Amino acid sequence: MINKLIRKIFGMGSDTRAADKPVTLNSAQHGIDPRLVSNSAIRVVRILHNAGYKAFIVGGAVRDLLLGLKPKDFDVATDATPEQVKRLFRRAFVIGRRFQIVHVLLGQELIEVTTFRGSSTKPALKDDAGRLLRDNSFGTQEEDAARRDFTINAMYYNPANQLLLDYHGGMNDLRNRTLKIIGDPEQRYREDPVRMLRIVRFAAKLGFSIDPATRAPIASLAPLINNVPSARLFDEMLKLLMSGHAMSCLKELRTRGLHKGLLPLLDVALEQPQAAHFIELALDKTDQRIRENRRISPGFLFATLLWTQVEEKWEHYRAQGEHPIPALVAAAGDILETQTEKLAIQRRIASDMKDIWLMQPRLERRTGKSAYRLLENERFRAAYDFLLIRCEAGELDPEVGQWWTAFIDASGDERQQMIAEQVKRLSASSSGKKRAKRSRRRKTGTNPATVPLPTTEDIQP
Ligand code: ATP
Ligand code: MG
Repeated sequence: MINKLIRKIFGMGSDTRAADKPVTLNSAQHGIDPRLVSNSAIRVVRILHNAGYKAFIVGGAVRDLLLGLKPKDFDVATDATPEQVKRLFRRAFVIGRRFQIVHVLLGQELIEVTTFRGSSTKPALKDDAGRLLRDNSFGTQEEDAARRDFTINAMYYNPANQLLLDYHGGMNDLRNRTLKIIGDPEQRYREDPVRMLRIVRFAAKLGFSIDPATRAPIASLAPLINNVPSARLFDEMLKLLMSGHAMSCLKELRTRGLHKGLLPLLDVALEQPQAAHFIELALDKTDQRIRENRRISPGFLFATLLWTQVEEKWEHYRAQGEHPIPALVAAAGDILETQTEKLAIQRRIASDMKDIWLMQPRLERRTGKSAYRLLENERFRAAYDFLLIRCEAGELDPEVGQWWTAFIDASGDERQQMIAEQVKRLSASSSGKKRAKRSRRRKTGTNPATVPLPTTEDIQP
């Protein structure tokens, strides 16, 4: 009791147990614009209400609504069990093992419906470090609120009466732009170390500061990230990179010492100015695309993050006398292997990354049928965008990028002429002009790994 009082007075985070009484705010007090609420989410809530269950919009959607943002997806929490929810909807699927949730599909929209979870004080299956392994006990709404990660993520909005229930002072923290974990920070990170990554993402994305008590244990608990299954880490990493604030997320990860367990080679890359510059450029472009609601391929993202490592290895193999293409194949294989130890990069994504990398020398060469075949390759666009970043980063003559930009829009005749000119240029440079080429390379600082290569026409990536 005294502890609770002291915590309250000094604002040292909320009590570990469920807060009994939420603060209720009406629409004038919380200011949510009902037009930003998805009709599908409203329908799901209404159907649950009509069947006699409690149901609210929760989590990130409420947080975004309070910030005046249009949520990208909606979660609903209810006291109906997953089976009871499933019965109410035609297209509903129970998914998940650690957390069972129901995916309700209405038209194009997917609403995630979760049943209120039980208190974390109930016995649960944990690993040696305190990480929760199974977590499917249902509970009251109060307990559900206490199980959520941050105070700003533990508010419940009822679109039917437009009331907002705030269990852990989330509204206040939101106004103060502060991220505060619910309960004892150390225990909550031990239960689920991914919460440390989530807080970094929210801090970067929302521009919020992290409450000192919430921040304090992260430095010493960061290695717990290594216990998290790699597939989950990969998902979280992707969310970080696709948050529209990728670079600030990476910076925040580094500041908090959380980057080590994620992309082992990225750690080294960010220490090197040239690699850091390339990554920064690539991530800036990614952020821009995401803000414009344009598609981003995860393969492209990871290909940019690891490119400088691939280049280094590539040079290493070439210096050992390997031919350029097999050297690049070996380098790409090495880097992917090292990464997948920690991060389960799905096979499809890894294959996209490899294609983007292996298309680079072919894009540089631009001769014969190869140029046309590249245009038809389903990965062309990604490989071309990648090439443009290399040009912008100064590792490649900008002329190569400009050539492709012109080639894409050129007519059939113009294309032929462009290729003929390129063939002429290549043969001129390879017939007795090696010395001139070497000195030019030295002058422009061009990476020897990126000059035009011997014929690659028959080598498909
Ligand atoms: P976004 O959708 O923008 O990533 P979000 O907060 O909605 O943010 P979700 O992963 O969709 O994130 O989770 C929905 C809600 O579930 C969260 O707001 C939070 O209340 C709860 N939650 C999610 N992950 C955790 C976790 N690891 N520990 C505790 N609660 C969590
Ligand atoms: Mg969400």
